[in-house]
Amino acid sequence: MFRTHSCGELSVAHLNQKVTLAGWVQTIRKFGAITFVDLRDRYGITQLVIGDEINNHLDNNPLGREFVIQAFGFVRERSNKNKNIPTGDIEVNLESYIVLNSAAVPPFTIQDDTDGGDDLRMKYRYLDLRRSCIKNNLLLRYAVTRSVRNFLHEQQFIDIETPFLIKSTPEGARDFVVPSRMNPHEFYALPQSPQTFKQLLMVSGYDRYYQIVKCFRDEDLRSDRQPEFTQIDCEMSFVQQEDILDTFERLVKCVFKEVINIDLKEPFERMSWEDAMWYYGNDKPDTRFAMPITNLKVPTWIFKNKQTLIPKTCVLENGFPVFDQAETILAITIPNASEYSRKQLDELTEWVKRPQIGMNGMAYIKYQKDGNCKSSFDKFYNADNIMGIASACSAKPDDLILILVGKEEKTRKAMSELRLDINARMGNRKKNEYKVLWILDFPLFEYSEDENRWIAKHHPFTAPHPHDIDTMLNNKPAIDNPHEYLKHPYCNLKANAYDMVLNGNEIGGGSIRIHKKELQEKMFESLGISEDEQKKQFGFLLNAFEYGAPPHGGIAFGLDRLCALLGGSESIRDFIAFPKNNAGRDTMLNSPDFLEVKQLSELNIELKK
Ligand code: ASP
Repeated sequence: MFRTHSCGELSVAHLNQKVTLAGWVQTIRKFGAITFVDLRDRYGITQLVIGDEINNHLDNNPLGREFVIQAFGFVRERSNKNKNIPTGDIEVNLESYIVLNSAAVPPFTIQDDTDGGDDLRMKYRYLDLRRSCIKNNLLLRYAVTRSVRNFLHEQQFIDIETPFLIKSTPEGARDFVVPSRMNPHEFYALPQSPQTFKQLLMVSGYDRYYQIVKCFRDEDLRSDRQPEFTQIDCEMSFVQQEDILDTFERLVKCVFKEVINIDLKEPFERMSWEDAMWYYGNDKPDTRFAMPITNLKVPTWIFKNKQTLIPKTCVLENGFPVFDQAETILAITIPNASEYSRKQLDELTEWVKRPQIGMNGMAYIKYQKDGNCKSSFDKFYNADNIMGIASACSAKPDDLILILVGKEEKTRKAMSELRLDINARMGNRKKNEYKVLWILDFPLFEYSEDENRWIAKHHPFTAPHPHDIDTMLNNKPAIDNPHEYLKHPYCNLKANAYDMVLNGNEIGGGSIRIHKKELQEKMFESLGISEDEQKKQFGFLLNAFEYGAPPHGGIAFGLDRLCALLGGSESIRDFIAFPKNNAGRDTMLNSPDFLEVKQLSELNIELKK
């Protein structure tokens, strides 16, 4: 037998037993006639004690870090116990050993607080993966997938694989494509998700499908995105939105309980997309803390049901030109911060002026403890006006109000970021606190002024809300005057879609799908896809809908992100065995890479100079 035990399993229950271990040399500590070696494998670390002759032998045949050895010896109780590791009560008195393989000096230390930078660790990822912190991440990932599979299996879902070499279909991002040698000049595309396949499986009658599956999107890589990532992809037939929310709420609850022993509060909070945008400035709000945004002036179509909150008694006319001319004025109220210093406020102002945030400046009101307000725009308004703003912001004495003004979308994004940043500074974004919610009632379409057409907010297979189907069918998508698109009835259409948000991250999203050919054609037409194109790109789906497609809907969760959040980490890379860097490169393989001319010519490809 190569080994009798692992390096993580011996205890006082094994005292005096003869054992054989195998693993990597983590550390060697020589104290004169005696040497201690920490031997590591996937399961843990066991201390070996080397005395007498073997110790002398080591002088001429030194062991090095990361050598792979087989160790034979007896288990004995340690005099100096180590309470930090499970094997800390014992050690193995070495009788003999065999070096199974030597090792070059590793380019960084194989320990949690390694001296290796990101690039080096990625280049030698197989060494990085030996570190116990990364190993624990992969174990957590395995625990998540096992829990997901068990839950879905119990609920009668079946795991069905779908192909990777498919046809390019628009899902929002760019496709990765693969040339076909056997079909010159033609290309496969790698799936951005198995969306249409899972819908076809519903048409085929497999009414509960799931797959833990790789998806490929050729997007510009913002930080912490991967060109290939994993989804927990699910679809169900004969369901309505409520059935999906219920099933997947239970799934997520089960994963949290089984993997990190956290009881999530049920039912998950629900928020309309419009409320999310209005109160938090984005559609994936972090609700671990309140601090809602006050909209002091927002007259746009996305907020049909909202009104400006500023009290009528303090209309800001003829006041501060920056406010008067602004499309949007947004404010947040920070409790107990009225004594922020000039320096602190300057620092925040610089923060919002950074190119990534892009504001021209920041205004503020200090609602002082004595009940008076002091603001950065005092000279433009009287005290009542300023108090009016403070009360619109629900401020109390000792609060600080921060105000951003500017173009609608940019200001909203900036305020959303500022809210997150301030709360991070205040320690309100706690890693071990979890707030999950559903975002519902998304718009079905967004209008792209650049492309002069409607764009699906989720994807083209998402059904409108049941009460909006007639409006969609009975209106033409065309817009005569692009500047007046806000008047088009399409702006009122809501999608039958839902996103699950955890601590400010979208961890899952899906929708009830269109399952009637006529409505799907109308959707494609609305998106500006001609009849010809519809047939070419989606003929298979439209045909399938002619043969008895059941009502269906589904959802997909981002597994990498879910694992990172469960592991209390910001970075998904640490939860992927072999991730790519921010430029989409695998520096270990040096991929992507050039092809030989011979290989290219077999593919009928000639490269542009
Ligand atoms: N296929 C969708 C996506 O990848 C998820 C879904 O609608 O089920 O975002």
